[in-house]
Amino acid sequence: MPAKKQPGFLPTSRQEAEGLGIDQFDIILISGDAYVDHPSFGTALIGRVLWDAGYSVGIIAQPYWKKEDDFKKLGQPRLFFGISSGNVDSMVNNFTANLKRRSNDVYSPGGVSCRSDRATIVYADKVHALFPKVPLVLGGIEASLRRFAHYDYWSDSVRQSILADAPADMIVFGMGERPLLDLTERLDKGESIQDVNDLAGTVVKMELRKWRSIGYDDQLVLPSFAEISTDKRSYADAFRLHYQEQDPFHGRTVIQTHPKTVIIQNRPSKPLTTEELDFVYELPYTREAHPSYKESVPALEPVKFSVTTHRGCFGSCSFCALTHHQGRIVQSRSAESIIREVIRITRMPSFKGIIQDVGGPTANMYGLYCAAWMKGACSDKLCSADCPSLKTDHSLQVELLKRLRAIPGVRKVFVGSGIRHDLVLADRSSYLEDLCQYHVSGHLKIAPEHVVRKVTDCMHKPPLEVLEAFKARFDVVNKAHQKEQYLVPYLMSGHPGCTVKDMIELAEYIRDHRMYTEQVQDFTPTPMTISTAMYYTGLDPITMNPIHVPKGREKRIQRAILQYKDQRNYGLVKEGLKLADREDLIGDCQKCLIPGKPAIREKISKTPGKGRSNDRSF
Ligand code: SF4
Repeated sequence: MPAKKQPGFLPTSRQEAEGLGIDQFDIILISGDAYVDHPSFGTALIGRVLWDAGYSVGIIAQPYWKKEDDFKKLGQPRLFFGISSGNVDSMVNNFTANLKRRSNDVYSPGGVSCRSDRATIVYADKVHALFPKVPLVLGGIEASLRRFAHYDYWSDSVRQSILADAPADMIVFGMGERPLLDLTERLDKGESIQDVNDLAGTVVKMELRKWRSIGYDDQLVLPSFAEISTDKRSYADAFRLHYQEQDPFHGRTVIQTHPKTVIIQNRPSKPLTTEELDFVYELPYTREAHPSYKESVPALEPVKFSVTTHRGCFGSCSFCALTHHQGRIVQSRSAESIIREVIRITRMPSFKGIIQDVGGPTANMYGLYCAAWMKGACSDKLCSADCPSLKTDHSLQVELLKRLRAIPGVRKVFVGSGIRHDLVLADRSSYLEDLCQYHVSGHLKIAPEHVVRKVTDCMHKPPLEVLEAFKARFDVVNKAHQKEQYLVPYLMSGHPGCTVKDMIELAEYIRDHRMYTEQVQDFTPTPMTISTAMYYTGLDPITMNPIHVPKGREKRIQRAILQYKDQRNYGLVKEGLKLADREDLIGDCQKCLIPGKPAIREKISKTPGKGRSNDRSF
């Protein structure tokens, strides 16, 4: 279809549709997020890509799921409904790591929560009841990462694939532009969605008999839902098997049988080329929330003037599902395209000269590559700075940042996304010098997560020696430039493989290196990560070795130890120190983590950490 002229915002009402001469939409996208026309919001990006391909796309953002009106307001689409919970899994969004319901939602106007739990299923149920004949396609993080049977922390149970639970026809997993364009074209040509079984980047379901009759050539059959929900070893096996197939070049079709259906994941979609990525990010986004909102959408503020430079991450951190979503292969935009985008930003009336972030999932992976990726990344080892095939030269980033700094109207370009410090150490360009001199404002975020070797090994993070070598280089560079800047380390408690003794070792390191911070993360078993498979099974799914899993009170103790200065944690920290035979850390000595007695109640501050120094960075 010929490209369509893009509107200011995609239509969200009948009135807006009529203004554009649309009687019936080709596609209607429903999202759990507010409609924010910015490329970091999936619905806006997909909507504009489909619109450019010549299709009319309507947006229903944050429908009120207890009534029908919102779901009916744009009528019946000609081709399909696309349903997503939004940028985040709705259960992660709605609950804390302690399973307490959150009172706010940064993806909603005014930060007021207005999405249901398990939003993808809830929206699909509603749409199917109203439009039973219209194809339903699920997408976004929630559907993508729940595409196989999976452990669900919020119900403490193994759930079926979301496609078995929802009355939908298909999941588009990972980054959806290519499969959605292919699917739309096939539906537009009259093909039934039931016959689109072979599209890379999609998951479909079918009856057992039909699956057997199709006879896929190259397929991997996982342990079934029945097996993995009753046997933890089978669960770990299934996880490792599908993890190794998430490659767009050598991945096989992966099958998992469920009680009423067979789930079929086709191989991931091929990464976008540089030209395709440039095109996607240069569509005419307004970078604003829809004008109908009376209050701002908090999630827009930190990214409004930020630029995505690449996709994919080969870090393979165990607790991150990015490998299962964007994949390991880094896909970078051209410098010219990024520069054009920044020039457009400088023309926005609200731009004050600050580019908030230039990056991707890991900022300093821009432009890095391995020749093997285009034949398929190694399935028997993880990509790392130590691999001789990985090109770790940061020169392209150095050049890009230099050119961005020179754009008229740009006063400052920040690198706000986290960086992989092990990659910086492997680099010989002036990246760190430039970063310290121009692109951080006092604090640089890095994510060592822990300092005990067996824990960092479980997390697939670089060991302590790498952190210390990076810190030494960071200090030398800052001294040379007469800058007073600090590292802000992200740290995690309660990860599988971590014991109370390990947390005490981390707390002592924090104490000795002035790294104390209240901004710590308590491990949450989110869908489809290696760490979640460890949490549920007690096994490392890659090696199948048993692993210690902190749960319940032990997990709370671990978190408390990481925030040992918070006086509200006194009891739990003391309990942990006693459990680990480390009562030497209780008292008034210099190395003690907590005093012999809790502070008297009246003096206990409600502000975490108040009353003792709050080092934050080192
Ligand atoms: S050769 Fe090294 S960098 Fe390349 S895919 Fe294999 S492990 Fe990754």
